[in-house]
Amino acid sequence: MPIPIMNTPTPVVFLGAGPGDPELITLKGRRLLDEADVIVYAGSLVNPALLQGVEAEMYDSAGMTLDEVLAVLIATAQAGKKAVRLHTGDPALYGAIREQMQRLTAQNIPYEVVPGVSSALAAAAALQTELTVPEVTQTVIFTRQAGRTPVPEQESLRKLAAIQASLCIFLSVSMIDTVVDELIAGGYPQETPIAVVKKASWPDQHIVQGTLANIADRVKASAIRKTAMIVVGRALSDDSTATSKLYDAEFCHEYRTGKQAV
Ligand code: SAH
Repeated sequence: MPIPIMNTPTPVVFLGAGPGDPELITLKGRRLLDEADVIVYAGSLVNPALLQGVEAEMYDSAGMTLDEVLAVLIATAQAGKKAVRLHTGDPALYGAIREQMQRLTAQNIPYEVVPGVSSALAAAAALQTELTVPEVTQTVIFTRQAGRTPVPEQESLRKLAAIQASLCIFLSVSMIDTVVDELIAGGYPQETPIAVVKKASWPDQHIVQGTLANIADRVKASAIRKTAMIVVGRALSDDSTATSKLYDAEFCHEYRTGKQAV
C-alpha cells in the first residue's frame, strides 16, 4: 500500500517592516523578504522601497478582505512555499494579526512573528527624546483615541491622563481636537508638551511641536492629516535635570562598582 505523502505547510511569517526607512527593518526581516515566494504587504503604510528588487509575487492588502488575504497565505503555505505578511512598524501594535493567526491555527498552518521598529519609537527618535525620564515618568502608554474602532471606556484618553505618563497615540491625528480636549479634561496641564510626527523616518518626515494649548491649531495649519504619531508628556520638555542612576558615578550595579562603594 503506498504511504500517503503528507505535505507539511511552510510557516507563514508575520513581519514588522519598521516605520518606513528601509534601513530600519531587522536583518532577519530583510532576509525573509529576499527569500519569500509570496508577500502580502500593507500598501498604505509600507515603504515600497523595501520591496524594490524583491522577486516574490506581491499582493497589496489595502484592497483585500481578510478572507482574501488568508486564502493567499494558506495556499502559499500549503504549497510548501514561503509567505510573508508584511505589516508596518511592529506587527503586535494595531496590526490586526490576531485574527489572521487564529485563522491559520484553525487550518493547522504554522506561523512565526518577527518584530519590527514601531513608529512610536521612530517618532521618539525623530524627536530626539527619551520617553522615560527619571523623576518625571517611568511609563509609556501606547494607545489611540476612539473613532470608528471603539476603545474600552476605562482606558479612554481622559482616564489615562490621570497617570501623567508619556503617551504615544496612534491612529488619531485626524481627531486632534478631541485628543487635546480629552487630555486636558483628564488632568494634563495646558502647557504639557506635545509633538506630532508625520511619516517618522521617511524622507518627507514632518514634525509639529507645541503644547496642549496650541497643538490643534498648529496641526491644522500644517499638511498633516494622517500617518502621524502623537507623543505627549512632560518627558518631552527639556526642563528636567534629573539624571539616570545608571550612569551616576556613585551608583553601583552589576557591571560597575561605584566610587563610594561601601
Ligand atoms: N504597527 C504599526 C502601527 C499600525 S497603525 C507600528 O508599530 O507602528 C497605523 C498608525 O501608526 C498610523 O495611523 C500612525 O499613527 C502610526 N504610524 C505608522 N507609521 C508611521 C510613521 N512612519 N510615522 C508616524 N506614525 C506612523
